[in-house]
Amino acid sequence: QGSLILQLRVAPIAEEYILILADDRTEATRTEEMRNDFVANVSHELKTPVGAISLLSEAIDEAAADEEAVRRFAKRMQKETVRLSALVQDIIELSRLQGTDVVDHAEPADINELVNDAVEANRLAAEERNITVVVGGAAENPVYADGPMLTTAFRNLIDNAIRYSPEGSQIGVGIRSRDGLAQVTVTDRGPGIAAEDQERVFERFYRIDDARSRNTGGNGLGLSIVKHVVANHGGEVDLWSQPGQGSTFTVKLPELDAADSEDSPEVLPR
Ligand code: ADP
Repeated sequence: QGSLILQLRVAPIAEEYILILADDRTEATRTEEMRNDFVANVSHELKTPVGAISLLSEAIDEAAADEEAVRRFAKRMQKETVRLSALVQDIIELSRLQGTDVVDHAEPADINELVNDAVEANRLAAEERNITVVVGGAAENPVYADGPMLTTAFRNLIDNAIRYSPEGSQIGVGIRSRDGLAQVTVTDRGPGIAAEDQERVFERFYRIDDARSRNTGGNGLGLSIVKHVVANHGGEVDLWSQPGQGSTFTVKLPELDAADSEDSPEVLPR
């Protein structure tokens, strides 16, 4: 392949063609590497809860006479099962999202409603930590969206804000229309994210504080799912953060104007 490129240096048009091919090969290799990484990460992540469940079932067996211990082990086993099931669900969701560029079941949707659904879904978690979620503002126009999928993205951002914020603090959720985009911000007063981690937190399984993530029920996939859901809707997600001050995640999605919102699939952002 190398010598072919050299030979064609005298013919610029052909050279360009060959170089594009070479680039494609690199892209394919990169995709393959990412897939291998993903499989390795998934195996690693699955082993932890599966191992725990296996040990706990043995412990229950051995402690059969001790009712109190059996109950304690069973409780922990239930917790590990819930965690395992959430992990499997997120892995499936992420694989599905990565396999496509666009959403399948999109229709004009009221983003204000989707955000409120997400806040509602996190109400109990917020109450448990005595956290107030303050929602303000509104978007003027609908967006073209798979409602439940987009709600999942907002739910993940609010769930993170709750898990990483100090107890008793406040979380702000803002909605507005600007420059033809619906913009949703989720602001917390948590530990913040250092500049060098700000891109990496959107990678699958990347965690800054592994123990804190796991202890609060995290699996390192939440932000990766957010990023893919938003990209599949033709939007983007930004992060502003200052360590010690907190973080603001902003989701920006193209708005439909009133005429589009009747029903026109061709306006689906790609
Ligand atoms: P996790 O399940 O670990 O929370 P995510 O993909 O949602 O996984 O987030 C990746 C990492 O980014 C987290 O482990 C955490 O270190 C960091 N992170 C996410 N959201 C916040 C936040 N609001 N404040 C501080 N750190 C955050």
